[in-house]
Amino acid sequence: MEYKISLIPGDGIGPEIVGEAKKILDKVCEKYGHKFNYEEVLLGGASIDACGVPLTQEAIDTAKSSDAVLMGSIGGDAKTSPWYKLEPSKRPEAGLLAIRKALNLFANLRPAYLYDELKGACPLKEEVIGEGFDMIIVRELTGGLYFGERKTVEENGVRKAIDTLTYDEKEIRRIAVKAFEIAGKRRKKVTSVDKANVLDSSRLWRKVVEEVAADYPDITLEHMLVDNCAMQLVHNPGQFDVILTENMFGDILSDEASMVTGSIGMLSSASLNETKFGLYEPSHGSAPDIAGKGIANPIATILSAAMMLRFSLDLDEEADAVEAAVQQVLKEGYRTVDIMSEGMKQVGTKEMGDLIAERIC
Ligand code: NAD
Repeated sequence: MEYKISLIPGDGIGPEIVGEAKKILDKVCEKYGHKFNYEEVLLGGASIDACGVPLTQEAIDTAKSSDAVLMGSIGGDAKTSPWYKLEPSKRPEAGLLAIRKALNLFANLRPAYLYDELKGACPLKEEVIGEGFDMIIVRELTGGLYFGERKTVEENGVRKAIDTLTYDEKEIRRIAVKAFEIAGKRRKKVTSVDKANVLDSSRLWRKVVEEVAADYPDITLEHMLVDNCAMQLVHNPGQFDVILTENMFGDILSDEASMVTGSIGMLSSASLNETKFGLYEPSHGSAPDIAGKGIANPIATILSAAMMLRFSLDLDEEADAVEAAVQQVLKEGYRTVDIMSEGMKQVGTKEMGDLIAERIC
């Protein structure tokens, strides 16, 4: 098959880690007979330096015309980089928010998977970890409290702030459909998280999720209150497969879930729109403190590329092969500095990419 992929190297360690992810995709093409046509897109600081703005219309058009976008990360050191002397709307992060909006990316996917080999980095007790965990949080990204009307007023000398939490059934339905589709590719369980004992928006959420569930009879649906979910993530994380939730709950729970894996250099993510199109990127930032040193862990970006194969290109077997190669390299004891532990073999960014590419079969 032939696909067009936009690559956004971005800033800091971005070009290094995207380079390794491309190496992996090239190996997938070689092994499975696909052709990926890449087009490089400027975003963030790199775009400011080249074009004077963090995102151009040309960049948006290129991204829109591709099957998927793979990104490194953007941004610099806020204290030393000249990009942060610009007004907020012209800084690197403004470009990222603008491209997410332009591409209508409403579904955010954050997997939290505990590799057996990295159990030592997990802050939970061994009896809680048990057989490990493998979940994915599907978070609604463009509605809810963060996008509702807000204002601050003063009434009778008392300051008062108001934020509004709104969801309509269309917004709920489209994210629920994504969660059920993803569960269909996994262990077929959706845990929908809400606060239906208090919030009207959550009661509508629950009803619409149940309506969607009726179209997926092979998938088990359970509802969980958000406060209970926050506890269950550190009490029995192995129970979760797909967690479906609204914007603010997802913001908090996805950070909690990723921290229990213990390693920022391993965490992939994806943001999808209503078609199969998506933007794939590691959960970490551009790590300016280690940029150019050749020591950044490329695995989060490589696993993001695997998500791209699975969710945008429907290449499940190829995605499995990339994930298995990552697991194999860890099993053989290779580690970048951020996940290094005693007795393991330390390697740099390029070497880690080479080792993973060699194990794709
Ligand atoms: P960061 O994630 O870049 O770095 C935090 C720490 O983790 C640093 O010590 C860094 O060296 C380390 N680290 C991160 N990724 C690593 C990797 N792959 N391998 C090894 N070590 C790694 O967070 P920060 O320092 O708060 O932010 C730096 C810049 O990144 C800022 O400009 C911020 O705005 C930007 N940022 C961008 C994104 C994005 O592009 N989506 C996300 C978060 C932060």
